[in-house]
Order: sequence, then structure tokens, then C-alpha cells
Amino acid sequence: MRWRDMRGSDNVEDREGEAPAGGRLGGGLKLGGAGLIAVVVLSLLFGQNPLDVLDMLQGGGVAEPPTREAPQTAPAPRRGVPVPDENKEFVSRVLGDTEDTWGRIFRELGTQYRAPQLVLFRDAVDSACGLANSAVGPFYCPGDDKVYLDLAFFQDLRSRFGAPGDFARAYVIAHEIGHHVQNQLGISEKVAQQRARSGQSGSNALSVRQELQADCLAGVWGHDAARRGLLDAGDVEQGLAATTAIGDDRLQRQARGYVTPESFTHGSSAQRVRWFRTGLESGDVRQCDTFTARQP
Ligand SMILES: [Zn+2]
Repeated sequence: MRWRDMRGSDNVEDREGEAPAGGRLGGGLKLGGAGLIAVVVLSLLFGQNPLDVLDMLQGGGVAEPPTREAPQTAPAPRRGVPVPDENKEFVSRVLGDTEDTWGRIFRELGTQYRAPQLVLFRDAVDSACGLANSAVGPFYCPGDDKVYLDLAFFQDLRSRFGAPGDFARAYVIAHEIGHHVQNQLGISEKVAQQRARSGQSGSNALSVRQELQADCLAGVWGHDAARRGLLDAGDVEQGLAATTAIGDDRLQRQARGYVTPESFTHGSSAQRVRWFRTGLESGDVRQCDTFTARQP
């Protein structure tokens, strides 16, 4: 991927050297490190995303849930792993490129794209969606309109998920930006309202459709990058390998040896590949309607 030819963004907020305010959660509930670990363990036991569990503990509804990519496996300890600064430049340029793509698409739709901030953090971070640690993976918080990324996830992508390469990393950013696009278009709010009225499996099914749409929107960005000559041979395969690697079925099988589709919140590998490819091949947001597709 020719990422050095992409424009760097001014919207990267570097909080890598900072400790989060510490245990403060949105609803006023205080949890120390041990409490947070308990939440993560609880969520792993019940196959739920840690932030959903935090939400439950706070007695909150599901309005405005963060859309995060929680690999449902225990996090590997990685404190002190040095992260090369080249990664930061990479993030800034890919983010800048998504701004160019979505700026154009929104203009064509007759409206203006509001570029979100991307927060780089290490280990744990405070957001409008509560305190989150790296175990939840990169996530987008609709409450403060920011993408949160621990660069150590890039290492996981290569070593734990077997998906190396620039384009695989770019896909992760583009997927989170897809959630921001959903938020700006009012889709996230509608989904949150509908999920609040649904039972657990209905709510999970809606989450899957929302995630698959973010994959499709990531593909729309990839299509535009290719059109501008910024992709190399093999990039698309790298991206598809990454979507395959983080399908719920693959993660569940790795984590516990069996798969329960009704607990999926992000979609199977095949579904994620299908929708990412739809965006990549069409470059058309109208093709990303995962909500009316009978079988997403
Ligand atoms: Zn997502």
C-alpha cells in the first residue's frame, strides 16, 4: 500500500504517554484495576463484550453503545512493548486518506463530512463510553465521536490473528471510520434504539448488521484508494485475510473450541469478507445496506 503518498491528518490525538483518569466510569460507578479485570473476565465467560457488561453494571441502557471490536479472547500482557513511531505516521496518513474519501462522498450526497478525532492510547483510556482497556480492541465511541486505537493491536493483528500487512492495518482504521460514518448518518442512533427494544439475540443480530455495514464502508474507502492508485497488488488479499481472521466464528473457535452463532456481534468470517468485498468492488455506499438484506 502506498501509504506514504497519502495526506497526513491533523486529527490524531496522541495519549500514549498518559494514564487515564483512573477507574472513573461514565455513570459515576468507580472501578479500580481489579474491578475492571473482573468485568473483562465476566464478559469473556458470558461471551459478551466488556463494554456491554460495564453498561449493565452501571444500569445503563444500550443507548449509544460504543461500537468496538472485541476479540473475545483474553488479552496477552504487552506492557512495555515498544511501538515504532512509523505506526503513528501510518495512522495519520490512513486517517487523512479516509477524510479525503468521505469528504468527497459526503459532498456528492449534498452534505459535509465531519472528520472525527482518532485517539492513540496505551493499555487503557477514558472515553465518553467509559473506561476501556486494550482488551476490547480498537473502538469508536459515538458519545464523543472519536476512534480509539492502541497501536499494540497492530502487533496482535500480525501475531495473534495472522493478518500482517499495511492494508490489513488500514482496514482496521477504515472499519472504525465506517462506524463514524454510520453515526453521522444517524444509523447508529436508530440501531441503538432498536437494540434497546430487542431481546439479546435480536440485539446481537442488529449489531452484526451494523458491523457488516462498517466492513462494507471500509471497503468503499479501499475502492477509492485503489482508484487513486494507492494500493499495490496483494493488498486486497491482505484486507480479506484480516476480515477472515476477526470473524466471530473464527475467534470463538480459537477461544473455546465451538461456535454459537446467536452470540455473534460482528458476523462470521464469510459474512465479513462478503461485505468488505461488496464495498471494495462497488465503491458505492448504497450497496452497503446490510439492514434490509435478508441474509446479511
Ligand atoms: Zn466495528
